[in-house]
Amino acid sequence: MDDQLNAVKTVDPAVYEAIRQEEARQQGHLELIASENWTSLAVRQAVGSVMTDKYAEGYPGRRYYGGCEYMDVVESLAQQRLKEIFHAEYVNVQPHSGASANTAVYFAALKHGDRILGMDLSHGGHLTHGSPANLSGKFYEVRHYGVERESERIDMETVRHLAKEFQPHMIVVGASAYPRVIDFPAFYQIAQEVGALVMVDMAHIAGLVAADLHPTPVGFADFVTSTTHKTLRGPRGGFILSGADWGPKLDKSVFPGLQGGPLMNIIAGKAVAFSEALTLNFRAYQAQVVDNARVLAEELIGRGLRLVSGGTDNHLLLIDVKHSGLTGKVAQERLSSVGITVNKNTIPFETEKPTVASGIRLGTPQVTTRGLGKEQMTELAEVVSAVLLAPNGFDPSAYLQRIEALAREFPLPGI
Ligand SMILES: *Cc1c(COP(=O)(O)O)cnc(C)c1O
Repeated sequence: MDDQLNAVKTVDPAVYEAIRQEEARQQGHLELIASENWTSLAVRQAVGSVMTDKYAEGYPGRRYYGGCEYMDVVESLAQQRLKEIFHAEYVNVQPHSGASANTAVYFAALKHGDRILGMDLSHGGHLTHGSPANLSGKFYEVRHYGVERESERIDMETVRHLAKEFQPHMIVVGASAYPRVIDFPAFYQIAQEVGALVMVDMAHIAGLVAADLHPTPVGFADFVTSTTHKTLRGPRGGFILSGADWGPKLDKSVFPGLQGGPLMNIIAGKAVAFSEALTLNFRAYQAQVVDNARVLAEELIGRGLRLVSGGTDNHLLLIDVKHSGLTGKVAQERLSSVGITVNKNTIPFETEKPTVASGIRLGTPQVTTRGLGKEQMTELAEVVSAVLLAPNGFDPSAYLQRIEALAREFPLPGI
């Protein structure tokens, strides 16, 4: 890593400086963005290797370019390990991102104008689940399910009712901001009743699923998609799982349907990350991620904050900051001023624009990677609640010092 940066420093001082400053930013602050994590040095070295220089269009053993023997080794390792983690028959490790993985499934399984039923973005869903701003919302006819007003959880009878009325070709399951367990078998049952396919997008919870801390969608979905860079702690990218029967269609849909040459350096990083995900250490890490989120949630509630759905079962929580008289935007800025990075987020039945929002989303994957435990979650909750409940014009300096001290005590491993 450092050797490579020496070359950057000589050739391009401006980029070198920005990378160093980003390192310092990541080291000096606490990142509570639920969709981010910190890859191992091994993953970053693989990503920064000569694997970036090779074209390898096609799949192992059937490439369109010569010289792909080591590309085949690396991609096959990534495939085998991914199959082992999730007990999948077919895997595709080439999608450049979670969005690409989802789009490749849509193109493999649906026709232009088909009906999809997905979770509402403002209730925790994702742009690629049928938002009008995304290709999925332009190519397909979309209806959305959300959470119930009272429980702020998905109600399966409501979903069943919608599915019977709408008769979707595909039900899309999964979320970016839903703190509760998702009932994959119940979704699958409904899909059977209406003759729909099911795609589960487990981008956020893949690491938890890998460690058996969230029920697996495999066996209760025709397709499972994911990112690799969230709880799973790999390089930035995506993948698809399915039964063997869909394999040929999915292969063609990813390449040449949607993408060109695979990012082989990223696939090398995925292979390394998947080997890490098969270790006992990884399981212990995921258990700590979930424990930390639960403690953080309890401690925040105990200090007077309102959490959407009243808590969390996974790695993330949503704070309704409107309840405390703030907007998401202001809450994000306040926490930023004390060294805590979060993102503003819409909450169910939102009344503000997405750029303002009434909530903030907090996640524990990254701080758990740097070694923070339950004790530090209590301290974090103290600072977060004090900052969110403080009067306008409060002095952030004492809180900033506490967060910077915590960040120094738990440095990011591998820089
Ligand atoms: C993050 C996320 C994605 C998109 O992943 P990208 O790699 O940013 O394209 C898709 N679906 C869900 C549910 C996500 O949380």
